[in-house]
Amino acid sequence: TQNSTPESWKKPNGMTHKLAQSPLKAKADALWPLRKSLPVWSLAQEIRQGLREKDVMLLVGETGSGKSTQVPQILTTESWCNSRSVTLKNSEKTVCVGGCIAITEPRRVAAITLARRVAEEMGTPLGSSSPASKVGYSVRFDNSTSPCTKIKFLTEGMLLQEMLRDPWLKSYSAVIVDEVHERGVNVDLILGFMRNMTTGGFEGRGRVPLKVVVMSATAEIERLENFFEEGYLAMSKGLGLEQSVTGDSDNESEWSGISDSVQRNPHVPAQHKANTISDGLDHSPRGESSSVIGYKLGQANGDEPHNLSNPNGKERNKSLSHVTKCHIEGRQHPVTVHYTSEPVQDWVDAALRTIFQIHHKEPMPGDILVFLTGQETVESLESLVTEYALSLSRDVPKMLVLPLFAALPQTAQQRVFQPAPPRTRKIILATNIAETSVTVSGVRFVIDCGKAKIKQFRSRIGLDSLLVKPISKSAAIQRKGRAGREAPGQCYRLYTEASYHEMQQNNTPEILRCDLSHAILTMKARGVDDIINFPFLDQPSRDALEKALLQLYQLGALTDSGTINETGTQMAKLPLTVSLGRVLIAAAEPEFNCVSEVIDIISCLSVENIFLNLASEEKKEEVESARRELYRREGDHLTLLTTVQAYAAENSDRKAWAERHFISHRAMQAVTDVRKQLRAQHQQAQILRQEATPHQLTSERATTLVKCFLKGFKMNTARLMPDGSYKTVVGNQTVAIHPSSGLFGKKVEAIMYNEFVFTTKSYARGVSAVQMDWVGEAMGV
Ligand code: ADP
Repeated sequence: TQNSTPESWKKPNGMTHKLAQSPLKAKADALWPLRKSLPVWSLAQEIRQGLREKDVMLLVGETGSGKSTQVPQILTTESWCNSRSVTLKNSEKTVCVGGCIAITEPRRVAAITLARRVAEEMGTPLGSSSPASKVGYSVRFDNSTSPCTKIKFLTEGMLLQEMLRDPWLKSYSAVIVDEVHERGVNVDLILGFMRNMTTGGFEGRGRVPLKVVVMSATAEIERLENFFEEGYLAMSKGLGLEQSVTGDSDNESEWSGISDSVQRNPHVPAQHKANTISDGLDHSPRGESSSVIGYKLGQANGDEPHNLSNPNGKERNKSLSHVTKCHIEGRQHPVTVHYTSEPVQDWVDAALRTIFQIHHKEPMPGDILVFLTGQETVESLESLVTEYALSLSRDVPKMLVLPLFAALPQTAQQRVFQPAPPRTRKIILATNIAETSVTVSGVRFVIDCGKAKIKQFRSRIGLDSLLVKPISKSAAIQRKGRAGREAPGQCYRLYTEASYHEMQQNNTPEILRCDLSHAILTMKARGVDDIINFPFLDQPSRDALEKALLQLYQLGALTDSGTINETGTQMAKLPLTVSLGRVLIAAAEPEFNCVSEVIDIISCLSVENIFLNLASEEKKEEVESARRELYRREGDHLTLLTTVQAYAAENSDRKAWAERHFISHRAMQAVTDVRKQLRAQHQQAQILRQEATPHQLTSERATTLVKCFLKGFKMNTARLMPDGSYKTVVGNQTVAIHPSSGLFGKKVEAIMYNEFVFTTKSYARGVSAVQMDWVGEAMGV
């Protein structure tokens, strides 16, 4: 097929060239040739046709093929995308249904950059900047839409929030679920809700169907297909969901029961097999060229790509099907893989050396993308590279070092997408955010540390903790692929070939390894009381579900019989973790009355780290003395509060203030963004008044604040043992105060902490001193 029809080539977005006079339109026209060359355009007609006939489409295509930016634009001109007035059954009410396309992203940065890009491509202003804007976005703490929004990028969490207000998503004609392969908890909930909705007859929408497009770079497409079809077939046949639709005996527990979920995955996805092929390529001797995987799902499995067959080879009744599939053939250039001969201990150092090696050896152009584990490693490598780059000789091109992580303020994130000045190589230091979420052009070299920070539920202490763990093979393949987007590239893996082969094939879905309390609260608030029979793509264990229910009960979000109460409903509406949500609700109670301060602290806690991590010993004293005025002996929560307040009170030069105190100005800008949003929300709801002066931070006030945090964090507490160590109050596990804490090395009766981190040992981070009787009081004993 051709890349596009001649008409659409002449008239991008239905506009004639004559009209395209304004700068916005001129830019849109200039982008059009690039757009139409994207692989997805060759399937535009197939995608449109598929969704005219069916309600659900599964779309697989590798990163950069144009799924996120083009598919909403391909669909927005379809007649089913227009809004309609309908009268709801059993009521006289006439409501407006549809008109807008929602597209969900796992990360804020992707939602915002994609919205900006699509607005540019359509020649329309972005979001709330103009009432005529057609493209907007909605992310935590930032909603930028207009009354004319036709395409709205949202984080997964925000779509779930909208479902609390409008369970049938009446403002949308379609929901596009992007990046499903990431498999965060929220996307699994969305998939479950979408399945229920598409098989529920659309009653709440006056029978106007909601079209659902599920998009993925590495989809386990067969499983997704079965997932959506099972519900539909069950509905069509009038059977209960607990019955096996295919009648396959080894399949019959698929949607019933909640145990034994990990093993119970009978579908070996075609992708696994495709990966095996690419593994073969990676086994080639080091330095040898290996072509990167093309997602030949069907072929690798011996099937036709669009064959509607179930995994056990039995033909479905096609007339009953409501799912259609589309597969975009990828375009990838070969990428040469280099492994280290020995395991690498200090991979920040190894990455540093590799960056300079490439920079000296390899010709321009060709930017370098480095995958690291988190904000902290990104920032420490950033300062090292910047320092060394100063000593580059004049005849070597310059380096432009650009960090990229989720908590980075928007303006800084945008810099990554701008072209580098002449004779300058971009060095992008990213977390796994750059794996599939954002496409940065110009990259020819990838350095992969082989690790990522992941959240894992530790059932002994009943908490999520952050662990640095090896990535999966499919993540390593994605990272490698970033080097071959525009030309042949090179990938330097900072691990041995043997370690690569030891990696697990795919990422474990978050729902199988994380605390589920927020997910369950969202489900309950959305009216799902029967958690066990909710259609999960991967069923969490009974143990994990019970722990989450117990935690919600302990936080006072559920009644004795397990139904959601007023506190729970309020918590579900807050864009915060259940613990922080509980604290913020408590803050408004007369007993505490400290909303303003709690917002300040929560804003800091939602940004990874505001204090710069300065490793060198000689600087330590200087840093300590600079920060002395901010330090509070009660602990980190109060120190954060004084820091935010001092920063907010600084009227002259906030950047200089931050530098003077060895605080990340960048992080403080992000804190300020969050704080502004939370304050505005609370002022609007009249929970917060615009106070002229903040409360004096007396020691009574400090106690009130810490006690208020205990309302949400009573489970995150540990007491001092006679031997000087701390043991968790729940689970009796040893935990040490993290060196980044102001209380590091201090001995206090008991501690409350914001998070549990496991590196070489278990650490509590974000720590405040508490008394055991406060903990007892909070626990109601
Ligand atoms: P996919 O969703 O399949 O990964 P995208 O639609 O996100 O693909 O991106 C398609 C192409 O559009 C990219 O390869 C890139 O060339 C271009 N693109 C996307 N976002 C931006 C951006 N913010 N700035 C510049 N180019 C972009």
